Amino acid sequence: MKKIIALALAMLMLLCSVSALAEETQKKVLVMATNASFPPYEYYEGTEIVGIDVEIAAAVAERMGYDFVVLDMEFDAIISAVNSGKADFGMAGMTVTEERLLSVDFSHSYATGVQVVIVREDSDITSVDDLFAEGAMHVIGVQLTTTGDLYCTWDLEDNGLAVINRYPNGNEAVMALKAGKVDCVVIDNEPAKAYVAANEGLKILDTEYAIEDYAACFKKDNPLLPEFNRVLQELIEDGTVAAIIEKYIPTEE
Ligand code: GLN
Repeated sequence: MKKIIALALAMLMLLCSVSALAEETQKKVLVMATNASFPPYEYYEGTEIVGIDVEIAAAVAERMGYDFVVLDMEFDAIISAVNSGKADFGMAGMTVTEERLLSVDFSHSYATGVQVVIVREDSDITSVDDLFAEGAMHVIGVQLTTTGDLYCTWDLEDNGLAVINRYPNGNEAVMALKAGKVDCVVIDNEPAKAYVAANEGLKILDTEYAIEDYAACFKKDNPLLPEFNRVLQELIEDGTVAAIIEKYIPTEE
């Protein structure tokens, strides 16, 4: 009898430890898809991806009770990663657009972006209007499938006013500008500032191309989105989001 009890106890203990282990390894993970070439929203610091989007997403995941992982990929691959289930959501300074809303859902917006134009300091392009001038034929660098790409394609290329060179990320577009392969780069203002600060001989035009809202994208009808939105809203209201943005983009005095 004693032997049976001892055996039963041993089995119970084994079962308990197996299920505890399973629980530990099963801690739910939220996977974020991004393009870590978009400072200060997402970029590498050594081997680690940091930035505004990463910190906001980590704060949301933590409050939702999830572990959090970031997957780096080209911007162009984010929506399909989200829709194939490779990632739970995408956060990449991504602008909410009508076209994207056909294939994904967006969270609440957490930041504003502005499309600006970067030129070499000696450029004869002095305002956005120069790109639209009659007979204009500039070579414009953009990041493939970003809103900068879409606007320049629709507004300029489709009207025979420009040639568009599309690069997989902002860094490559800016390198092409430095090398004289393109006349300007249309890109979001914060990465533009970071690229201009890191590369001599470039400047941002004063005139803005477009103003946009950034949000996280989810596969349509993903049941995680309502909870993500609820927590994100809390973090907006309690000032956490503003503090994260201020940390990376200090307001000028
Ligand atoms: N805001 C732009 C867009 O959504 C660019 C984003 C990016 O390059 N990471 O298309």
